[in-house]
Amino acid sequence: PAPVGVAPSTPSLFKVHAPNVQYTDDHILAEYTYTNTLVTKAEDGSLNVEPKNSVYHFKTDTRIPKLGLMMVGWGGNNGSTVTASILANKNNISWRSKRGVHHPNYFGSVTQASTVKLGVDAEGNDVYIPFSKVLPMVEPNDLVLGGWDISSKNLGESMERAQVLEYDLQRQVRSEMDKLTPLPSIYYPDFIAANQSDRADNLMAGDDKQAHLEQIRKDIRDFKAANQLDKVIVIWTANTERYSEIIEGVNDTADNILAAVKASHDEVSPSSVFALACIQEHVPFINGSPQNTFVPGVMELAEREQTYIGGDDFKSGQTKFKSAIVDFLVNAGIKPVGITSYNHLGNNDGKNLSSHKQFRSKEISKSTVVDDMVAANKILYAENEHPDHTVVIKYVPCVGDSKRALDEYECDIFMGGRQSISIYNICEDSLLATPLIIDLITVTELMTRVEYKTGDMTKFSPFHSVLSILSYMLKAPLVTPGTPVVNALAKQRTAMENIFRACVGLAPTNDMMLEHKVW
Ligand code: NAD
Repeated sequence: PAPVGVAPSTPSLFKVHAPNVQYTDDHILAEYTYTNTLVTKAEDGSLNVEPKNSVYHFKTDTRIPKLGLMMVGWGGNNGSTVTASILANKNNISWRSKRGVHHPNYFGSVTQASTVKLGVDAEGNDVYIPFSKVLPMVEPNDLVLGGWDISSKNLGESMERAQVLEYDLQRQVRSEMDKLTPLPSIYYPDFIAANQSDRADNLMAGDDKQAHLEQIRKDIRDFKAANQLDKVIVIWTANTERYSEIIEGVNDTADNILAAVKASHDEVSPSSVFALACIQEHVPFINGSPQNTFVPGVMELAEREQTYIGGDDFKSGQTKFKSAIVDFLVNAGIKPVGITSYNHLGNNDGKNLSSHKQFRSKEISKSTVVDDMVAANKILYAENEHPDHTVVIKYVPCVGDSKRALDEYECDIFMGGRQSISIYNICEDSLLATPLIIDLITVTELMTRVEYKTGDMTKFSPFHSVLSILSYMLKAPLVTPGTPVVNALAKQRTAMENIFRACVGLAPTNDMMLEHKVW
């Protein structure tokens, strides 16, 4: 059903005047020619190249819904930081530290704090607008927040436990935060580290997984009704789980995993139960942790129900940097031969990851991030050749939420030379992850309002269930089965930007600046 939308809180910043773009009261309609280049290999090995044009029609609903964000792991460092920082932004709360007065912002959010080039003015100067203004998007300050946690602490206590935000800010949002309490959640101890058991005091009754799934569905419906929401999106920002084993007959198909939930099979993880509940409620579900929540059965159900899923694992610090620097090196013709990454952190995520099976999920998610960049350059790398790549994570409680990442990039350069680049990245983990949650939610919501149609289709359709457009924010991007994964950060951003532009009928961004290069 169409959302009972509200008008955009700020009127559109621009209007496109072109025959391929139409504005109605509720929609932007754009006809767009997608240009690609088809390359085929002839028998003699030579390449045949053919430019290909295909026409897409995009339809974007411009009514912005009242949106609820439900977080699994609401009482964690990320969940409590998201909540407190939205409260601070919404109420424009400033706070003092020894460095002076601070004002709230959304730095680190690509949608809220970065700009895109819209075009050029009459003098040829670039004109930039906020990323969030290319298409009408939900304002983070308007989100209604809720969620679940296995820990019963209210959000005020959780914020204090997290030790992320300055005391003077905590003090000012505390009374509002104290009013918020996570719903009881599901805890299958085998999936997260044993060292988490002492916080598990807020649990749904029993061990019937089907009953749990139904309770989650009910929680979503109740939250939606109680807050008079048009839409809800759920994000997993709870602990990293161990990988689920893929077992034939259990989680390999949609029907099998639904039957496995009914039978309360041991190998169905809490995150998969949440994902299934969301899919059945037709609520988008995003996985911010590295485990394989989206086992084949979950993926199949999402496709069958045509509802959005996205993941895996927030790309916040070290990996984000890696997916920018390796892209830069390889594109500069420099050959990274070794990438060695040491991390230490002292928050509860670090404590959970000090257990081997949970660390293994993180290690897998961090390990494939340079594959596409390496595969793109056959001058530097032979078939199946990869740089040595090692990731170590250690739990060091005294550094708290501050994550320390030491990276060494060992590179082959000209004529047998070597270049070693050492990076020491110190960042407050949850202050990098929170803006990503904002981006994941606002872009996902936008995608629920965009539809497309190509020549042979009789009606508009939503995009594929797997939202690979979210890749920029994710370490191990989930993509449509059988399609390539893009990890390179710049490409991921350009994809988002250009798809948004296409929806308003504008050609992709390019940096040719031809007009400044000719007589
Ligand atoms: P955290 O440990 O502070 O918070 C996780 C919360 O989830 C805890 O409050 C815990 O009680 C709760 N929880 C555990 N199992 C649950 C369940 N089954 N249902 C409901 N709640 C449950 O961790 P965090 O720092 O907020 O990070 C959250 C997740 O995001 C972790 O998996 C982490 O690996 C991932 N992540 C974080 C970052 C980052 O912070 N920069 C980056 C990438 C990924």
